[in-house]
This record gives sequence, C-alpha cells and structure tokens, in this order.
Amino acid sequence: MAQKIKRHDRVLVIKGRDRGKVGAVLQVKPREGRIVVEGVQVVRRHVRPRPNRQGGIVERESPIPWCNVRLICPSCNKAARVGFRFLEDGRKVRYCKKCQANID
Ligand SMILES: [Zn+2]
Repeated sequence: MAQKIKRHDRVLVIKGRDRGKVGAVLQVKPREGRIVVEGVQVVRRHVRPRPNRQGGIVERESPIPWCNVRLICPSCNKAARVGFRFLEDGRKVRYCKKCQANID
C-alpha cells in the first residue's frame, strides 16, 4: 500500500468522534492501517501505581483508521488529496492535488 500519511504530518480528522480536529501524526501502524494523531481519540485509562510510576488516570491517544484523516498540505495549508509522482532522480514523492506542490 502506498503510504500517504507519514509521521509528523499534520492531518485533519474527517470522520468519527473527533471530526474537525487537526493534529500531528505521532505514530503510523501500516499493518493495521491505523495512525495515532496527537489529541485525537483520547481515552482515559486508570493505571495502578507501580514502583516506577504513579497511579491515576492517564490520557492517551488511541489509533484511528488512516482513511479517517486527510493530510494537510504544508504548502497551501488545506486538507488535500494526495497523489504520487516521480522526481527526475527517480524518487517517489507525495504531492498535493490542490496546489500541485511536492510534499516530501
Ligand atoms: Zn497544497
């Protein structure tokens, strides 16, 4: 599968509970087709105290399907559809279908 979303990308959530939120991609799980986005799908977990850690409530992002987000183009700053193109040196890069700018 071509990887349209990468770590450190800024994405807009278009589906689910956190629709409309924008955040940075913290983690990509290609095998599950899921990504973890900063501040999105935050769940509270109750954690028992351990010798090296305090107990209490921990807020943590959980993974969401990557098709629920859209990449925000760093160039035009809009939620963009992403395509792929090859550069002259053979590298494959993503580009924004709105403003045509290369993203990588
Ligand atoms: Zn763009």
